[in-house]
Amino acid sequence: MARIPSEVIDQIRNSVDISDVIGHYVQLHQSGKGFVGLCPFHEERTPSFNVNVQKQFYYCFGCGRGGNVFQFLMELKHIPFTEAVEEVAQLANMEVPSQYLDNNGKDNKQKSDTPNGKLMMMHEEAAKLYHHVLLNTPAGAQALKYLKGRGMTDELINDFNLGFAPEQRILKPFLTQKVNDYQLLRKSGLFVENNDGNLRDRFVGRVMYPLRNQYGRVIGFSGRVIGKVPEGTPKYLNSPETPIFNKRRTLFNFNVARKEARQTSKIYLFEGFMDVISAYATGVKNGVASMGTSLTEEQVAVLGRAVNQVDICYDGDSAGQNAIDRAITLFRDHKPRGMQLRVVQLPAGVDPDEYVQQNGASQFNKYLVDQEETVVDFYLRFYRMNKNLNNQNELISYLEQSLKLLATLPSSLEQDMYLTKLAKEFELDKTTLKSQLAEISHRLGIKERSPLRSDTPGQAQSIVSHPVQQQKKVNRTELAEQLLLRYMFHDQEVWDHVTAINNFHFAHERYQTLYLLAEGYFSEHGEYSAAGLMDYLKEDSLRSTLGQIEQLNVDEGVEMQLIDDCVQLIQKQIPLSQKIKELQSQIREASSLNNNELATQLTMELIKLLKKQQELKAEETN
Ligand SMILES: [Zn+2]
Repeated sequence: MARIPSEVIDQIRNSVDISDVIGHYVQLHQSGKGFVGLCPFHEERTPSFNVNVQKQFYYCFGCGRGGNVFQFLMELKHIPFTEAVEEVAQLANMEVPSQYLDNNGKDNKQKSDTPNGKLMMMHEEAAKLYHHVLLNTPAGAQALKYLKGRGMTDELINDFNLGFAPEQRILKPFLTQKVNDYQLLRKSGLFVENNDGNLRDRFVGRVMYPLRNQYGRVIGFSGRVIGKVPEGTPKYLNSPETPIFNKRRTLFNFNVARKEARQTSKIYLFEGFMDVISAYATGVKNGVASMGTSLTEEQVAVLGRAVNQVDICYDGDSAGQNAIDRAITLFRDHKPRGMQLRVVQLPAGVDPDEYVQQNGASQFNKYLVDQEETVVDFYLRFYRMNKNLNNQNELISYLEQSLKLLATLPSSLEQDMYLTKLAKEFELDKTTLKSQLAEISHRLGIKERSPLRSDTPGQAQSIVSHPVQQQKKVNRTELAEQLLLRYMFHDQEVWDHVTAINNFHFAHERYQTLYLLAEGYFSEHGEYSAAGLMDYLKEDSLRSTLGQIEQLNVDEGVEMQLIDDCVQLIQKQIPLSQKIKELQSQIREASSLNNNELATQLTMELIKLLKKQQELKAEETN
């Protein structure tokens, strides 16, 4: 197996955004120019894991691990470098030429011809074709008129890459030119198979909504009939399950919502993807919807990894309320860590699309904020459904149900708040409600402290993994070395200035090694990139050091005086004996070149150093 050439590696690395890849495994939050999150490599409660988007690398201040996107996957999944490169290539829809791939492994053969990559490519090509037909051909005119009539702007049509599949079946001849593989065409789900084994376009005469995976790659479609729906035809036709499209895992607009949620810290969960688009049009871009199924536990898990708060935003009719109840139960049962749930219930019988059309964008945005309620608030209303609270018995049963819910709350303050509410609303004595609540808690076996909060710090400690390198305080010299390298890497002038200094040498081995490796990297690549240099470093500790250097908070422009101060400080730390040796060899060199002037000058310096050495020795023996 040949080594993958560094141009190919660079190209693959540059084609993805590290925060997208890491965001798939770690919940990231905006912090300055980059993102922070809880480190996936060591146990921690406050985030010290930084993702630097500008420089395309990560660095953890807690355990010192750092690297680029390849090292992240290698470390996380315990896979070799080539596999990490391959994985990133797949995400970027690129292929690693097969001669560089390891063909020994069993499943590698399948990987190297990446059928899934081809399926995604086919979907992307189909989306492009449909989009083109919609915007630029007479066949798409009616569909375009229909979409515009429903309030779709050019911007929305472009952002969601909407398209039109015309009556003429154009996809098959179009794709066959690119992929001449019957099995792959069949597997794509873009076609239906006739009895005679012939394939024909699945989507015909429909407005096409591309469905994307978490990385934004097109993996399926939902096609809608224009205007009136003929009998016996579904209004929406979705792609069937394929190797790349899993309905249970797919959330419409998730790739966009996840990024948005880094600012908003929450995602809105809508019932249908048209709701997502309507909300998007009003500026609420962090909305998602499940695809033609009710919410699944897989989707709950996907959301749980992405955000800390989900607002369930369903229709307020009784079907909608039941769906909210089901969704909450699903989140409860699968308890994504630290997940907060909220409910925004729309007026009965109105979906977001209709709400926006009736009330406008700003009113919708206001509604989302004003009507956001806790899960408890939702249930206190939900339990009333189909109950006549003027009837004594029904009121009692309602209160019982509500108190049972309150009994599960972890905070007594919260309990008290809701008790006040109930007492007020039904003109009851709060003390009576309180003692009733205590009785219910007792009956349900709920102790004063809720079982929901079983955080025991002691346990967490025991599973702490061993950090690569404990972060230690750096002394003045080290800081100078780090600063110097930081400026050398980023400023050609500084690099030239320092490398021109005779016999310049870093005081600590690791900075010297980093410097030498960077020199090699520069000669190959010309231009510096932190993520690129990361691939050049074969040791974790060096990558950690580079991460540390790149995370230094420095001004971009630098005075040469500061550079010289750093150099001086570092030079001082180099042992005298080493300097003496270097001077001696320089003198020999100068003499052999008959450069007497330099030789004399150097000899004077040598004498000074020898004197100093004697003084130091004398001090030591005293
Ligand atoms: Zn860490």
